[in-house]
Amino acid sequence: MIDAELKIDVVIIGGGILGLLVARESKIRNPESEIVIFEETSFLGDATSGRNSGVMHAGIYYEKDSLKQVLCRKGLALWRCLAPELGINFSQCGKFIFADSHVLGEDSEAILRELLVKAHNNGAKDVRIATSSELKEIQAYCQASMALLSPSTGYLDVASAIHALEREITKLGVHIERRAKIKSLRTLPHNLIELNLDDYAGFKS
Ligand SMILES: Cc1cc2nc3c(=O)[nH]c(=O)nc-3n(C[C@H](O)[C@H](O)[C@H](O)COP(=O)(O)OP(=O)(O)OC[C@H]3O[C@@H](n4cnc5c(N)ncnc54)[C@H](O)[C@@H]3O)c2cc1C
Repeated sequence: MIDAELKIDVVIIGGGILGLLVARESKIRNPESEIVIFEETSFLGDATSGRNSGVMHAGIYYEKDSLKQVLCRKGLALWRCLAPELGINFSQCGKFIFADSHVLGEDSEAILRELLVKAHNNGAKDVRIATSSELKEIQAYCQASMALLSPSTGYLDVASAIHALEREITKLGVHIERRAKIKSLRTLPHNLIELNLDDYAGFKS
């Protein structure tokens, strides 16, 4: 519960992984600032962030120099450093991309070779064609005539990441308001912003 008199400097709408990371970075850069995260559900990461597969992509598929490709590569490198700082598991397990001719048709191997070139152009230089013994390994699970191996694709335990970030930003002094849905906002003179919350009874008076 936040004090009704609190002068809020930064409002973050949504306590998903991005909201938590933005809160952490803003508080580290400006420790004196009062930051509040308003999250409409009862749990942080309860929407998309807590329900994805946790794959830390290497930027293979995106268009070269697109924001997605650039941020994907940057994000992978940043998470490698951040995960141990937060004490959470980042597994650099790698990933196979295989050619299933039932799905891709006769061109399946040509499509994989094109993808290999794209991966290298996108900075994922370690992506390579899987060796025959690696291919044999995955053939136990699927019908693959060829596969690419991306050694630097990783896996992050997202639930642990969200809990660790929640603990850290709480310690840093970020306020987290749950069951607090922002209905609308409006800019006012003197750099003020008015927030309208749905059914919110959270302010201490
Ligand atoms: C099926 C699927 C699989 C995916 N797999 C991967 C993957 O393997 N690897 C990967 O890196 N990415 C993956 N993604 C993408 C990734 O999940 C998202 O990029 C990421 O979760 C976005 O985080 P976020 O914080 O922006 O959004 P969210 O996690 O959706 O957080 C937004 C939060 O805002 C809250 N909110 C919304 N409106 C309001 C309001 N008005 N007031 C208050 N609170 C509000 C919501 O309740 C929610 O908690 C996947 C996405 C999907 C859909």
